Amino acid sequence: MLRDAHDRTIRDLRISLTDRCNFRCFYCLPNGEPPLARKDTILTFEEIVRAARVFVSLGIEKVRLTGGEPMLRRDIVKLVQQLAELKPALKDLALTTNGFDIPQKAAALKAAGLDRITLSLDSLDRDKFIDITGVDGLENVLESIDAVKAVGFGPVKVNAVIVCGRNDDEVVDFARFAREQAVSFRFIEFMPLDSGHEWSRDLVVSGREIKERIDAVYPLKLRQASRGSETAWKYGFADGAPGEVGIIAPVTEMFCGACSRIRLTADGQIRTCLFSTIEHNLRDLLRSGASDDEIAEFLEHVTLQKEPRHQINGEKFVPASRTMSFIGG
Ligand code: SAM
Ligand code: SF4
Repeated sequence: MLRDAHDRTIRDLRISLTDRCNFRCFYCLPNGEPPLARKDTILTFEEIVRAARVFVSLGIEKVRLTGGEPMLRRDIVKLVQQLAELKPALKDLALTTNGFDIPQKAAALKAAGLDRITLSLDSLDRDKFIDITGVDGLENVLESIDAVKAVGFGPVKVNAVIVCGRNDDEVVDFARFAREQAVSFRFIEFMPLDSGHEWSRDLVVSGREIKERIDAVYPLKLRQASRGSETAWKYGFADGAPGEVGIIAPVTEMFCGACSRIRLTADGQIRTCLFSTIEHNLRDLLRSGASDDEIAEFLEHVTLQKEPRHQINGEKFVPASRTMSFIGG
């Protein structure tokens, strides 16, 4: 069991498969920083699967593949297949993607054992989508949502980072989209993890404001009184329409107290928090001939160092040692 020093059990592992991306979202990787990790520093599939196996033996139940853009990793379907062999101890295998290659690969991913896909969609307007992501990709994301549904993945989640003056005028349109498409639309507060360092408090649209704006047009009903270790407050539509609204407010309503997450970067570093200023080198251990028991011991030790909370709202906030596309969101 992975327990930290603050009485939290860690059950959720996010694996970044690559720090590369074919999008240039202004809130994440606006300048397309050259990939930091060289080919030989990136974990191989064998190393990822071994790490995941040890994690699962320690009680990890959910694995999410992310990045950068995870679909850029060639043969990702094979990796999913290998990770799916960790079921049933592994209860949930998910992927977060900008939609790249999803229409072509959705069926294969499903057949390989992937349980869920979350897609990013930051505007329903083609020009704004280009402005936000640097890519003319709206049609592709919409097609990807259709493909994910057609192949029979469970409830589809769609993520949007809401930023003042960029897409906050679309909040109600996104909620309408959730109703019409019967998807769970998740509104995420902008966090200071962008490589362009443009984040400022003024650009954050609070979860509360997002909820109020939607509620005024489509009254919402809270689905459950507690969100457990989940990041989102989930709402259904009071009129019974399909779809769901999820509000993720890490900046204005910190949820660190119930955090169950740990991260593995593409180059094999363990991060115990999105905002960690240090990392723990699993890659070298994996390559040193260590046994699974030694790796497990290392992971238990690292987990004990998990930060109690982020300090975004503190006076002494120190930015994370790496930005979102390198960490794996
Ligand atoms: N490329 C994939 C995608 O965009 O879905 C997966 C990686 S991306 C880093 C994972 C999630 O992090 C996306 O939903 C993205 O919107 C979110 N994200 C990126 N930068 C963020 C920021 N500065 N604040 C809040 N969320 C952010
Ligand atoms: Fe790429 Fe995802 Fe970051 Fe956008 S949010 S730049 S798609 S990694």
